[in-house]
Amino acid sequence: MKVENGKVVTMHYTLKNDAGDVIDSSEGKEPMPFLQGHGNIIPGLETALEGSTVGDKLDVSVEPEEAYGLRLQDAIQEIPSSALQGVDNLTIGMQLQSQDEEGHPFVVTVTKIEDETITVDANHPLAGEILHFAVSIESIRDAQEEEISHGHVH
Ligand code: ZN
Repeated sequence: MKVENGKVVTMHYTLKNDAGDVIDSSEGKEPMPFLQGHGNIIPGLETALEGSTVGDKLDVSVEPEEAYGLRLQDAIQEIPSSALQGVDNLTIGMQLQSQDEEGHPFVVTVTKIEDETITVDANHPLAGEILHFAVSIESIRDAQEEEISHGHVH
């Protein structure tokens, strides 16, 4: 059986940034499950894993455009600190829930704190990064109909 659209795959992975720092890893945990072909994992990794089989080990480098996108200057905003007066112990790196004009929630990260203004960044923390994955395919099975209709693994 191969990794293809409609298969539930589990993988062990280690993710490093371009500087070689480990950002995330499944080591010591259960392998991570995902439904291939449904955007459960970043597009560049999904493409690279297509057609692989159990036991395959792959090293995959993914450009930002195929990962978490480019870092957008427009996504960085200064807001008056009075707007966040209800937030206790505001610290750099803290993530806050915000809403766009249509009421959709999104997450911003606090990147700068000054007396009058606070800078928040709505870019994904890994936006603009080239990502390096070491992956091993642990299992592959057919997805159930319900999993396909939901677009995720049960
Ligand atoms: Zn579901």
